Amino acid sequence: MDLNLRDKVAVITGGTVGIGYAIAEGLAAEGTNLVLVGRNRERADDAAAQIADKFGVITTAIAADVATAEGCAAVIAGTHKAFGGVDILINNAGTGSNETIAEADDARWQYYWDLHVMAAVRLARGLLPAMKRRGGGVILHNASICAVQPLWYEPIYNTTKAALMMFSKTLANEVVGDNIRVNTINPGLVLTPDWVKTAKQIAGDDWEAHLQGVANEAGGMKRFATPEELANFFVFMCSDKASYSTGSTYFVDGGWLKTV
Ligand code: NDP
Repeated sequence: MDLNLRDKVAVITGGTVGIGYAIAEGLAAEGTNLVLVGRNRERADDAAAQIADKFGVITTAIAADVATAEGCAAVIAGTHKAFGGVDILINNAGTGSNETIAEADDARWQYYWDLHVMAAVRLARGLLPAMKRRGGGVILHNASICAVQPLWYEPIYNTTKAALMMFSKTLANEVVGDNIRVNTINPGLVLTPDWVKTAKQIAGDDWEAHLQGVANEAGGMKRFATPEELANFFVFMCSDKASYSTGSTYFVDGGWLKTV
């Protein structure tokens, strides 16, 4: 199936490891050129070089913190400098939290608001004009099943991911006439290196059993997805094959969601 993604340009925040890296590989396999964003410069450079080498596409690494206005400005300027604009924006950078509402201070709330919501706002504002000039595009937001089915230990994550979902819907309405499709994808459990690291810290040699316990508790398929399983869905949503899909939220969670 030709997905018509050859020679497009995609910006992927958090594209240097985990789900973002798998999306980068998936798009590169279709011939899409990439801007990969992460705070760690060495990891971003390595990821960009590896993908360029493996798939023969043009890649640029930008080391920037998208939780800041300056970091987002650097992504926008770097993308315009490298490619003159963008066709696909994937807001994927994010991380879990761990707190109670009773104890978390304002600064903690603000950090996650900036990372999960304001990054998407600022990057849309900066990249939309060129996307419109190019005749349209795609914006995807990687939120989480926690946006609608909260986990007790991360109220700030749940709340800011829910806000990202609403931002996505609202943006979709604003740009629907510009041939720009905007959607949210809510993953369930995805086995990224970070999950493995945390499981090893908690359970030592029994880390695999610990992860299986997490999956069993989630129910449904009772297993983690691979990053590639998520990436396949993102790549499809970037393509013309998803041409009637905008303003929606799609769950890729192995049946963990307990509601319709
Ligand atoms: P990882 O921790 O594996 O990777 C996160 C990526 O984001 C890295 O490239 C990291 O690079 C980058 N990043 C983090 N903070 C910033 C920042 N402030 N500025 C720029 N880049 C940043 O995460 P996952 O792949 O697991 O998750 C990706 C997204 O998917 C997240 O938004 C997460 O909430 C969501 N998700 C993940 C699930 C899972 O089970 N894994 C389930 C549901 C949703 P660097 O550290 O160098 O900045």
